Amino acid sequence: MGRIVVVGAGIVGLSVCRAALLAGHEVTLLEQDAIANPNSASYDQHRMIRYQYGDAEGYTRMVGDAFDAWDRLWDDLGVRHFSNTGTMGISQSREDYTSRSLATFRKLGVQHEVLDREAVERTCPQLSLPENNWGLLAPVGGALFASRIVDDLARWVSARDIEKRTHNRAVRVDSERGEVILEDGSVVSGDLVVIACGAWLPELLPNYEGMPTFRQAVCYVEPPEEYLDAWRNSPCLTDLGPGDNYAVVPTHGTGLKFGSGSHRRPGHPSDGFQSLASEGDEVISLFSPFLQQAARYKPLHMRVGYYVKDASQRFRIDTLGRTIVITNCDGQMFKFGPLIGARVIRSFDGEQSATDLNRWAAGY
Ligand SMILES: Cc1cc2nc3c(=O)[nH]c(=O)nc-3n(C[C@H](O)[C@H](O)[C@H](O)COP(=O)(O)OP(=O)(O)OC[C@H]3O[C@@H](n4cnc5c(N)ncnc54)[C@H](O)[C@@H]3O)c2cc1C
Repeated sequence: MGRIVVVGAGIVGLSVCRAALLAGHEVTLLEQDAIANPNSASYDQHRMIRYQYGDAEGYTRMVGDAFDAWDRLWDDLGVRHFSNTGTMGISQSREDYTSRSLATFRKLGVQHEVLDREAVERTCPQLSLPENNWGLLAPVGGALFASRIVDDLARWVSARDIEKRTHNRAVRVDSERGEVILEDGSVVSGDLVVIACGAWLPELLPNYEGMPTFRQAVCYVEPPEEYLDAWRNSPCLTDLGPGDNYAVVPTHGTGLKFGSGSHRRPGHPSDGFQSLASEGDEVISLFSPFLQQAARYKPLHMRVGYYVKDASQRFRIDTLGRTIVITNCDGQMFKFGPLIGARVIRSFDGEQSATDLNRWAAGY
């Protein structure tokens, strides 16, 4: 049995805690805010899980493993916080992300259906697509109810024999010795320290100081009433128009959410979590060319989050002495949280080398 210290109680940190507890280790969880921190990237009504990953075969495969890991979590929690709406990527040109996803699906045997434009609009009558668009529907995929998951996972972890320190920020890590120094001056040490502190990482570990962090604001929207059922029965959408637009559909009491890569800006949590009144309209305008009755969509509220994202678009799980750092989570890691937690602990238990863990996380 080892002693494992986890910094950060988002989906990744909590998943590491659960995996460590299941493997019989002693766990200390350190969080600068409450558990859960409502401003963490993990805390929102939903996060999408989808197989469409362009030509990234490693991540496409990993999605299948992620579903197995979620199933094990549902067993532990006794509830399934997932709605299998299916996910549909929209292609606008040859060689675009959706076209590359199709090639990957064919190569790896991922279940899918190709829909021409008319068929996409029959499935999603709220859309109005340009002539040459077509859809790649994956019947498995949809909405993970993120904040419900984080809350229940926090409860599951807290019900076990675990030490928790909240509202106490980690200010320094001695990665070689496996020591974390907290802002109240106390020192917590372990056989392994796992750093899962999302966009706050660069100020905690000097080696990560230059990692770029981004602000992503997504918009909950009210569609015209006559299209509400269409959205409710629609798959989640990815790559609607240029700029990485996606929609998570309203399901099981959650709202309709629009997000866009075009609405991502460099930023850091210290910039705050408020949004400008104009932002909702800005996000909706990116979707408008592809919506029926677009002028009647209304922004309800924005949700602001931050993450680390460098140009490689590959997750990083780095081992430094007695410390494992999980970073470069991008707008992508929620779906892989439980899987990553399990892999990190398997590596600590000697079942996978640090090098292999790093390569696996990078999608090779
Ligand atoms: C708007 C938005 C949309 C997204 N959409 C998707 C999606 O559809 N699908 C998907 O899979 N992913 C999505 N993501 C990405 C995903 O949400 C993140 O990759 C994931 O939640 C990161 O989890 P985490 O636990 O690493 O970080 P976080 O959830 O940010 O948690 C980090 C925790 O560490 C704590 N912490 C930080 N520093 C310290 C410190 N020094 N001491 C103590 N505690 C500390 C923080 O308070 C926080 O609670 C999205 C992200 C955003 C922001």
